[in-house]
Amino acid sequence: MIAIRSPGEIEGLRRSCALAANLLEALARWIEPGLSVREIDRRAGEMIRERGAKSAFLGYKKFPGNICVSVNEEVVHGTPRDLRVQYGDLVSLDLGVVFEGWVGDTATTVALGEAAPEARRLMEVTEESLYLAIDKARPDARLSDVSHAVESHVTRHGLSVVREFVGHGIGRSLHEEPQIPNFGRPGQGPRLKAGMILAIEPMVNLGGPEVRVLHDGWTAVTGDGKPSAHFEHTVLVADQGPEILTVAEGKAEEIQRKLKHGGRS
Ligand code: MG
Repeated sequence: MIAIRSPGEIEGLRRSCALAANLLEALARWIEPGLSVREIDRRAGEMIRERGAKSAFLGYKKFPGNICVSVNEEVVHGTPRDLRVQYGDLVSLDLGVVFEGWVGDTATTVALGEAAPEARRLMEVTEESLYLAIDKARPDARLSDVSHAVESHVTRHGLSVVREFVGHGIGRSLHEEPQIPNFGRPGQGPRLKAGMILAIEPMVNLGGPEVRVLHDGWTAVTGDGKPSAHFEHTVLVADQGPEILTVAEGKAEEIQRKLKHGGRS
């Protein structure tokens, strides 16, 4: 069963998602070469608590961090450690908060300074695939239309979709029904309805699709050591079309533009 949220519940999610987006934006601006992943995680935890929220990840199935920080060939679920981020690195930041009982979940990948052209292209195509997928999240569409939008855009650009991790419904819990793969044939799965809330999150590899999990039991890395990117928004399926809830202050217009133009601003 995919929950249909009431207007009051949607307001709660709107607040948690806006907070998550503001925090992610602030964190992405704050990070710089030389910081360790542990320091980035600690700062994120402070910022979340300063705003009266809780990390949605800390302690989830014993996850040890406030957020996930995944660098270069790391795909998702990077844990706090002493690794220092460097100029030219791709850093994926995934941030989830619980605020007034509702969860908001959002992720972005940033380049520290100048990234290699192929890494930039990886980031662009991944973000575009997110917006193309969000555009499919409309009443009467089928769930796999969202999935297919990611896969078709990514493969068209010669990149690979990660299959081991998926997007998800979200509400009072971080992971609710349905699971949202980033691949699949269109026209399958449940029919979307107004009031559903979906966390859509393409994870895309520059090389092959294979991933493995490191000995910490969490950090997922690409099988071939090539970089990976990850973008995520929490989205409301509304009668008038998809509404992105994880919008940082001052970013509404930019996000609307990206939604209209398939991720290009
Ligand atoms: Mg998520």
